[in-house]
Amino acid sequence: MDPPPSRAMSYHNPDRLLRRFSSMHRALTDTQVVVCVKIRPLNAIEVAASSTICTQVLGPGALSVQDDNVIGQARTFTLDAVVHADAPQSALYELTARNILTKVFKGFNGCIFAYGQTGAGKTYSMLGSNKDERSEEGIIPRTCRELFSRISQDNGKTYIVKGHFVEIYQEKIIDLMDSNDTTRSVSKLLLRHDKSPGGKGIYITGVRETIVRTTQQVLALLEEGTKRRTVGSTNMNATSSRSHAVLSLVISGQDVDDGEGFSKTVSKLHLVDLAGSERAKATGATGARLVEGASINKSLAALGNVVNSLTSKNRSHVPYRDSKLTRLLQDSLGGNAYTLMICCVSPASMNSAETLSSLRFAERTKKIQNRATINRDPKLARIVQLTEENQTLKAKIEILEHELQVMKDSILKKPSAYAKSTATVSPATSMSVGNKTKCCVIS
Ligand code: ADP
Ligand code: MG
Repeated sequence: MDPPPSRAMSYHNPDRLLRRFSSMHRALTDTQVVVCVKIRPLNAIEVAASSTICTQVLGPGALSVQDDNVIGQARTFTLDAVVHADAPQSALYELTARNILTKVFKGFNGCIFAYGQTGAGKTYSMLGSNKDERSEEGIIPRTCRELFSRISQDNGKTYIVKGHFVEIYQEKIIDLMDSNDTTRSVSKLLLRHDKSPGGKGIYITGVRETIVRTTQQVLALLEEGTKRRTVGSTNMNATSSRSHAVLSLVISGQDVDDGEGFSKTVSKLHLVDLAGSERAKATGATGARLVEGASINKSLAALGNVVNSLTSKNRSHVPYRDSKLTRLLQDSLGGNAYTLMICCVSPASMNSAETLSSLRFAERTKKIQNRATINRDPKLARIVQLTEENQTLKAKIEILEHELQVMKDSILKKPSAYAKSTATVSPATSMSVGNKTKCCVIS
């Protein structure tokens, strides 16, 4: 018999959920790759098929999954967090995504992406289900709201936020901010790598970038772009995303009283809603849908290969260039970023094979080691470093000058006492610099 869903771990109250996970939440704040599992409720198809539940939450970060094909055998996974089907959208955001935004404000790059089978809840987690209902908003609108709310409250800094929104459809990067259907469909956007110190990293040439000043502006951009996104209906999901969508925000901030820009940091935040992995049999896809599915699976396979390569003991070449998706996310996977993966899964036994496969991928992703650093102009950062060193040295010189003056004064006042203590080096006197005693002539 399938285990019942754990009531002990189901929370309707986000505060209670956060309190329950608070120690873990603190522990995660400095983890550079965080993996959170999001279990959705049973959907209508699974209920109609009288599917039992195969997932059981065991504790913060731990869950077990009963394999439908191997009766009595449950596989346990330990990741950073598990958010139960009952948890509200706010809990997922507060538990995981908010920390990425905090890092972005400190000048680090951030990346949040949802992964999982088609229909597992990726778009629901990233965008939400009903744009008119605040409580139903997903991670992307919540992140944008908090971004601009923090900016408006920070009187000590000025910020500029630029955004662009693209989809990767059949290995083509399409600008979702281009309202012209013809130019959009023949898109020739390319990915480039700026490797210069403090440079742009991976970027898209020719993409429309807009300065966004308010939450409303960025949400309007998101809504417009989402309408242009390629979706189609499959057996697994009536509005299945057939492309990977990436909203990128570039946030530059600097102190208001810093005319030279010494305090300037520039952070990139990628918010990614991936298309789902799918089995043609389960989705019932044929024709164009089948071709799209093959392309989606190809880029997800490339993502899997990159993760495998990054986490293998004999790591050599990482095949980022095998797909546009992995190339675009190169900084976020094993590079300069704080990365959050939301692994979306179905709780239904009839989908246990996909759930197990997604969780195995999540386990591997968790092992990736990123190297996040604060993004500053290296020349300005060097000037700041030299200025600080200069100030430290000046302070040391002042102390030494003061000590020297004290010595001079004491020699002039009590020449005999001082001469006695420095008899061996008279008429010069001695002073300590580091561990060595040096001679110097007192004028
Ligand atoms: P995906 O993007 O992974 O293909 P979706 O996010 O579009 O899947 O979700 C498929 C369906 O399931 C949608 O109708 C969505 O509203 C619903 N759904 C997903 N996750 C949840 C959840 N946690 N609570 C309620 N409904 C959900
Ligand atoms: Mg989707």
